Formats: sequence, C-alpha cells, structure tokens
Amino acid sequence: MKQFDTLIIGGGIGGLMAAYRLKEKTPDMRICIVERGVELEKRVCPASKSRGCVHCKICSITSGYAGAGAFSDGKFNLGTAYGGTLGEELGDDVAMHYIDEVDRILTRHCEGNQVQVFQSNEDLKRKCLQNNLVLLDMNVKHLGTDLNFTTMLNIIDCLRAQGVELLTRHNVEHVEKSDFGYALYCENGQVIEGKYVIIATGRGGANFLNSFCKQHGVKTTSNSVDIGVRVEMKDSIWRDFSSQIYEPKILYRTKTFEDRCRMFCFNQGGIVSAENNHGIITANGHSFADPARKTENCNFAILSSIHFTEPFNQPTEYAEYISRLANIISNGNVLVQRFGDLVRGRRTNEHRLQQNTVRPTLKATAGDISLVLPHRLLTNIIETLYALDRVAPGCANDDTLLYGCESKYYSIRPVFKNEHFELIDNVFIIGDGSGICRGLSQSGAMGIYVADAITK
Ligand SMILES: Cc1cc2nc3c(=O)[nH]c(=O)nc-3n(C[C@H](O)[C@H](O)[C@H](O)COP(=O)(O)OP(=O)(O)OC[C@H]3O[C@@H](n4cnc5c(N)ncnc54)[C@H](O)[C@@H]3O)c2cc1C
Repeated sequence: MKQFDTLIIGGGIGGLMAAYRLKEKTPDMRICIVERGVELEKRVCPASKSRGCVHCKICSITSGYAGAGAFSDGKFNLGTAYGGTLGEELGDDVAMHYIDEVDRILTRHCEGNQVQVFQSNEDLKRKCLQNNLVLLDMNVKHLGTDLNFTTMLNIIDCLRAQGVELLTRHNVEHVEKSDFGYALYCENGQVIEGKYVIIATGRGGANFLNSFCKQHGVKTTSNSVDIGVRVEMKDSIWRDFSSQIYEPKILYRTKTFEDRCRMFCFNQGGIVSAENNHGIITANGHSFADPARKTENCNFAILSSIHFTEPFNQPTEYAEYISRLANIISNGNVLVQRFGDLVRGRRTNEHRLQQNTVRPTLKATAGDISLVLPHRLLTNIIETLYALDRVAPGCANDDTLLYGCESKYYSIRPVFKNEHFELIDNVFIIGDGSGICRGLSQSGAMGIYVADAITK
C-alpha cells in the first residue's frame, strides 16, 4: 500500500497550490495528489459543434489536472471583493497576502507576454450606481484560456520534478481512519494512506464531500444556490466596460421580488460552452487571449441567488432538478432562446434562430426557457437584463440569446474545527468545495494557507 505524508484529493488550482507550497516549505515531504480525471494534456472533450455533449462519466472539461479552471478564461482576481469570502474568513489583509502568493507562483510559471492587468474604474462604478446597479470592481489579471493552460502545465511539471506523485483516474470514494493516519479508498480498488489529507475536490466533488461529512460527523450548513442563464450578445455592447475593466461584475436588487441577481463570468469575444456535471448539461462560457480565436460576441451569466430556509436543505438538488428539466425538453442539451421571443411568450425555433443577428457560438436546442425556470427566477433575469440595458444599451435587444440553465452549486458548507479549515484531526478542506471560494485566486490562496498551517 502506498503511504505519503500528505494526500491531496483533487488536482485543481487549490490542490496544486497546496502541493506547491508544501514543497516550498518542506522539500522532503512525500506528497500525493489523487485525481479522478486525467493529465492536463490528455483532457479532451469529445463534444463537437454537431454532436454536442456525449455525457462522459468523468467530464474532461471539469475534471482532471488543473480542475474546473483548466479551460477557463484564466482571470485571476487580485482582491477580495468577489470570487469567494476568504477575506471575511481570514481578514482582508491575510487573504490578500495569500492571493499575492498565488500571483507570485503564477508569474514564475507564466511564459506568455499577453498577460493584461485591468485596474478598477471609478467612472464606471458611478455610472452603475446612478442606475441602481453595483459594479464589483478590483484589479484582474487575465491570462486567457491558452496561457492559463500552459501556466498550469508548467506548475504541474514543476511539482512532478520535485517528486510529487500525481495520480490520475483515482476517484476517491471514501476516507477511513487507519493506523498510519488516513486511508483513501478509490473506485479503482486502490487504497492510499497519508498522515494529512487535504480535500480539494471543487464543486464537482459535492457528493464525495457530503458523504465524507456524514461518515465523519462533520456538521454542514447549506447556504445559497445561484440559478439562471448564460447570456450572449454582440461584443460591442459591453466594449465601454470590457476595454477598461475587462470583466464587469454587477449586482442588481430586482424590483418585483427584491432578490439579489448578479451578472458575472463575462467573456469578451468568447464562446458559450456546455458543461457536464455528472450527467446534467449546463451552460458556461470561455474566451481566448489569442486575438485569432476571438468571436464577435461576448457572454456572461445572470444568476439569481436563492437562500433556502427550514425545512428544505437540499439547494443543490433543487438547482439540478431545474437544469435537468432544461435537458429533458431540449433532448439532453442546453436550451437557447432569443430574448425577444421570451418576452413575447413564444419559443425560439430553428427558423428564428437562423435569422438572429447574434450568431450562437454553442450548438444548443432552440426552445423556451420559461418552461423551465420558475416565475420568480425568470422575472429576476428579465428585470436584470433591462437594468443592465441602462448602462450597456442593447443588452436587452430582441436578438440577445439566453442559454439555460446555468447554476452555481456551492451550497454545502462544512463547519470547520478551527481557523485552519480543519474538518477532523489532520483533514483539511480548501477551494470551491469548502463553500468559501468561487474562483481561481481564492481557491489557490486557500490551498497555500492550509499548506502553511500543516507545515507550521
Ligand atoms: C468554465 C469555467 C470557467 C471559469 N473561469 C474562471 C475564471 O476565469 N476565473 C476564476 O477565478 N474562476 C473561474 N472559474 C472557477 C474556477 O475554475 C474554480 O473556482 C476553481 O477551479 C476551483 O478550484 P478547486 O481547486 O477548488 O476545484 P476544481 O478546480 O473544481 O478541482 C477539483 C478537482 O478535484 C477532482 N475531484 C473531485 N472529486 C474527486 C474525488 N472524489 N476523487 C478524486 N478527485 C476528485 C476533480 O476532478 C477536479 O479536477 C471557472 C470555472 C469554470 C467551470
């Protein structure tokens, strides 16, 4: 049986940064990353424009080395205003220190010269405030999908060169206490032992984390879930914003329900993509730094936050149920609808889609999102689009495309034993799976923070 000092479950940015820091502080430490997906360079999605998602058991878009961020736009938020609540947990100064550490490691391994840093912008903030919108603003480093990918490859190579064992196709099913410390039981029959365990399983590891918490008596609290759509329109509509701050992230409190809606995950010149979350196909978006790969569109998510109170405590299931409904009526695909059709109460069909001035960048099924989203969520999304139209005229055009559904699950939040995010003795949690992070920088920062706690 293989034995290590530290086992890291999950090879996303959180797990990679944790391993990196452990090696920096304790070069002799025996570290193993246990990942259910494959090597980064082997991560290939078999979906094509014509076939769409083919429902792989382990989705190469979200699983494998570099995690959910592998094919992302590589936007690193150099602040705490969004992308998680690490600032609230550790205090802004400490959180910023660890975000800076992520940036230091990235800079060391990033070989490209296309990196841009976008600064915050007071004029745009004011323009939004004057229209009842709140622009969340901070400095953002943009690597782009291609440079992000090669930077991650370089970090992984560096870990390998330092003797970190990088397992692939090892889906950890459960964790038991053992004489050595802990034993990880994998789906392929392998058992791996370690003294410390860092759980870095991201959003996709929610089921694993849930059963871990049940098995080891870790209490969980369920908080919000975000449900909505991916919106696509001509890139020029948001050019005033994107040329200055790169990524507008805007909050809106809707008029009818006074719910919080957010516009985020903006991709300038990007494409809409489909994502397979254990069999449920949802929408997402990417963009490339390489100008040759830019499209004439931009896309972003509009999500409405729902916070459930007693007796309901399964927000993830709720979001999955809605996304599954979209899959049912679209024959296992993402739905797409013109905004003009939605407000007129009719479905979009192939004919109307063909005539649309905004060309869809994802082969989705033309349909009717109002048959999927509950009235409250739909009203929130429509009101938010009209509100955004005031600062980016054209946003609520008839030809704007809405893809459904997009959800962000970060509902299970374990109760930590201490400020080091320890769940039970010597088992820690980091990244998106912790319910604290929602982005690359904070997930990586949390990995480094926990590595420091272990090596102290
Ligand atoms: C399309 C897309 C674009 C994004 N763009 C950005 C962006 O530009 N900027 C930004 O800040 N954030 C972005 N994000 C969010 C960002 O990717 C995540 O916040 C980040 O990846 C979280 O890191 P993590 O290490 O916590 O988890 P993940 O990156 O999700 O990694 C978790 C890893 O654990 C593995 N795993 C899960 N369960 C098990 C198990 N039981 N056994 C073994 N392995 C397991 C998974 O296969 C996965 O590789 C994007 C996300 C997506 C999906």
